[in-house]
Formats: sequence, structure tokens, C-alpha cells
Amino acid sequence: MANQDFLNEINKRRTFAIISHPDAGKTTITEKVLLHGRAIQTAGSVKGKGSSQHAKSDWMEMEKERGISVTTSVMQFPFNNCLVNLLDTPGHEDFSEDTYRTLTAVDSCLMVIDAAKGVEDRTRKLMEVTRLRDTPIVTFMNKMDRDTRDPMELLDEVEEELKMACAPVTWPIGCGKEFKGVYHIHRDEVILYQSGQGHTIQEVRIIKGIDNDAVTQAIGSVLAESVREEIELVLGAAHEFDKELFLAGELTPVYFGTALGNFGVDHILEGLTEWAPAPMPRATQDRDVIATEEKFSGFVFKIQANMDPKHRDRIAFMRVVSGKYEKSMKMRHVRLGKDVTISDAVTFMAGDRSAAEEAYAGDIIGLHNHGTIQIGDTFTQGEDMKFSGIPNFAPEMFRRIRLKDPLKQKQLLKGLVQLSEEGAVQVFRPLRNNDLIVGAVGVLQFEVVTARLKSEYKVEAIYESISVATARWVESDNTSKMIEFEKKAYDNLALDGGDNLTYIAPTMVNLNLAIERYPDVNFRKTREH
Ligand code: GDP
Repeated sequence: MANQDFLNEINKRRTFAIISHPDAGKTTITEKVLLHGRAIQTAGSVKGKGSSQHAKSDWMEMEKERGISVTTSVMQFPFNNCLVNLLDTPGHEDFSEDTYRTLTAVDSCLMVIDAAKGVEDRTRKLMEVTRLRDTPIVTFMNKMDRDTRDPMELLDEVEEELKMACAPVTWPIGCGKEFKGVYHIHRDEVILYQSGQGHTIQEVRIIKGIDNDAVTQAIGSVLAESVREEIELVLGAAHEFDKELFLAGELTPVYFGTALGNFGVDHILEGLTEWAPAPMPRATQDRDVIATEEKFSGFVFKIQANMDPKHRDRIAFMRVVSGKYEKSMKMRHVRLGKDVTISDAVTFMAGDRSAAEEAYAGDIIGLHNHGTIQIGDTFTQGEDMKFSGIPNFAPEMFRRIRLKDPLKQKQLLKGLVQLSEEGAVQVFRPLRNNDLIVGAVGVLQFEVVTARLKSEYKVEAIYESISVATARWVESDNTSKMIEFEKKAYDNLALDGGDNLTYIAPTMVNLNLAIERYPDVNFRKTREH
């Protein structure tokens, strides 16, 4: 029997990430969330455009120059009797597969929408990924201090485009210069906003009851009347919060506020800690592993060059799925069939990266990786199992990569295969020639790869453009059809870094034709590690 303290530790954990379109306010919200968690952490934390606290390894100079974060760091802080793990995801134009895979390591997400713009492209894409696991989503309509779109229209758009019912928990009172605060539907409270206090935790004024005269006095009778009417309409028309539907990813509680003004962020945190799930089970090929199992297990979802310039190794980010990590414990590296003693895992507690004494299911720990750990690797306390569902995503950008010095071809291939095992990029070798094609989800990945090839593999490579629109992993149960396909589509086939057969499509039209012509072949957009 697991003891109560152990169960409490796990049940109080909430592990989430923020999904949003660039500029919707993810960084600002992260800062305010940490402010409320009283845990502003400096090391590799909030990207802070032009901030001096940036991580400093060589190739990361690049991200510093560009004021963006390639890295996905982890921030842990207490809130409401819970211990919250916030996994940061790159938010800028340039993002990578890491962003996607980070979403496989969380139990819920906060979706941030710019209320003037509504549902944007990147949010749509990220939602496709969260849908693979029906991750529960909490929604924040940000920038209410600006002129925004009609709130009801915003909810309709989320429902229609993201196929999720919306249950408003708060409702905005005015917007832009007239933004007065929100009505908290569940608590029947009007919470008043004061501008210019974004850097602190505000002393807010709360008025109980929407019909209270104090509301009329505070916001004026005209606005008060129209707000009361609007809220009556909303209560009649909108969905009510339903925890089961939320946990199934079918309904999202919606909050309104302004991250810049630090208003409404605490409401989201309350919702997240109250409703979002404690660490969820994860599937292996044989069974589901429950967080409260006593034996430790975890999987690696991301590998990153060490943020500490003194170390040339890399850090493997592991989501603890069950049990507890303790310093100097023995773990089985399942893929290698090897037991290893881990004494120097890092956690990402407030303050700095520090040596982790212990970590529980739901937490993220960093393992020093000297080339033996790959994305998707499972670690256990002896059981030979493998977590599933840590995918590669079909890249959307392609370049041919070529050496400046042709004698180093072997080195280049080795570097590319290793970087692809790490998930930094994907590499494809066409069957019909000796080209090397690099595929990425975000542009920045290309730069990271040449910088790392140079510093770690001593090869100088350059890119050439190539007309490839997309790639799909191909397979079929029907061997004879597959052989026929391989013959006919030979010119478009390539092997990826793990020797998996891939169809390289010059255009989307070409891909669609191929899918039509070869109905027995599966063209996959994701591939599991
Ligand atoms: P990210 O790209 O999603 O991380 O977005 P940022 O947090 O960097 O925000 C993008 C811009 O929007 C910045 O200039 C922020 O100051 C601004 N911003 C963020 N939240 C708000 C808000 O609530 N109101 C207003 N007016 N501006 C905001």
C-alpha cells in the first residue's frame, strides 16, 4: 500500500503548458503566473526579449540575438495547495517539433487567445496535437484592455473552429479604455479592474452579486444595465461548466482578462488547480501506467544542448509517469536493457536549476545525456516496457544540405542522424540519389542544425532550396501492393534517420494524387519513436 504522503504528493501536481499564437501574450502570462506562484525563476526562464538572464551556450547565442526562445524550460511553483509544473514552449514564429512533443508531457493546457484577433493559425495547429490525447483545455481571452471583438462571437469561433464547447467562468465588463473588470459567474461576484498595476498582485475590489447597487455606483448605471442584460443572455445561451466534459477535452472553461494588467490570471490558476487533472496515466505497449504506482517510470520527450556552458553534454527532459525519483536511484534504460544509477538529475525549481533530491509523477527532471538517450526512451525500475505516443511530426519545411568540404560526408551523415535521433531535426535520404534533405517544423531548426554541426561535429554545411512540400511516412499491410508502390513511386521515396520509408511530395497536389492512386498504402503525418 502506498502511503498517504506519497499519494498526496502526486495528487497535488498539475502539469500544463500554454498554447497560443505568437504575440497573443504567452510570455506575459507566464510572468504573471510565476508572480502569483511567487516563483519567478531566472535560469532559462521566461524568454524576456533582450533579457540578460538568457541561457548562454554557443548556439543559443543565436536565440538570444533574435530574442526568442528555442528551449522549452520547466517552472515549478506552489498555488492553492497544488504544485504546478508549467512547461514553456517556444512561442515565436520559429518553433520546432519540441513544441509539439512537449504537449505529450503535460496533463492540461492553457490556451491563450488575443481577444482582438480570435482563433489564429498556430493555436489551431497546436490544438490538433492536444487532441491526440484529448488534453483538457482552459481558455484565456487576453488583452481585454484593448478594443476587442464581441465576447460571444469569440466563444462561437472557438466552438466552431476548435470543436470545443465553451463554458464562460468569467465575463468581461466592457473592453479597451472601458474595461472595468469581470463578472465571476460561478461566484456571483463583480471583480473590478484597475489599470496600471500589472507588475504587482493587485488588491482587487470585489462586489458580491451582479444586482448590487455598489456595481451600479462603481461602473455607472448605463454600463451596469447593459452588463446585467448581457449576462442574463450569456447564462441562457452558453454552456455550463461540466467537469467530465472538460476532462474529456470536449469543453473548455473560458476566462477574460489582461495579462499585461495582471488581471484574471489568478482566476485561471484557480480553475487549473481546481479542475485540471492530477498526473494522468500513460500508455505503454502492454498496459497503462498509473501515476500512483510505487515503482518509478518516465519517458524522454525532449533533448536539448546543455543550458550551462560549462557542460558540453545535453539534457534529456523526462516526464515522470509514476512513482518517485530519488537521488542516486537505479533506473533501467529500457531500450539499452541497462541499469544506470542517476545521481545528478536536475529539477527546475524556483531559483535555479538545482540538483533534484526527489521528484514525483507529473514532474519533469533533466538527465545528463552523453549520447545514450534518445527521444521516446523509457526509464523504469526494472520493468521492460515502452511508453507510446511520443511522435515525430511530418516536417513542413525542407532544404537540401550540402558540405562546404566534400570530404566530410561521413561526419555530416553521422551528425545529422544523431541530431535526428535527438529530435532536433529530421533527415531524409532519397532512394534515387545521394542528396541529404533536412526537414523541420520551424525555420529556426535549420539554423540550430548548422550551428551544432559546426560546433559538435566540425563540419560546415550549407543549405540549398529544394521543392518539397511535405513528407509522409508510408506503410501497408499488403506486401505485394507495397512492393508495387515502392517500384512506382521510387523517385519520391526516401529513408528517414531511423531508416523508415517516407514519401517526399513535391506538391500537395502530388501527395493527394498518390494517396488516391495507392489506397492500400497508409500515408502518415506522425510517426512514433
Ligand atoms: P507571446 O509572443 O505570446 O509570448 O506574447 P508576449 O507576451 O510577448 O506579448 C506580445 C505583446 O503583447 C507584448 O508587446 C505584450 O506587452 C503585449 N501584451 C500581452 N498581454 C497584453 C494585454 O493584456 N494587454 C495589452 N494591451 N498588451 C498585451
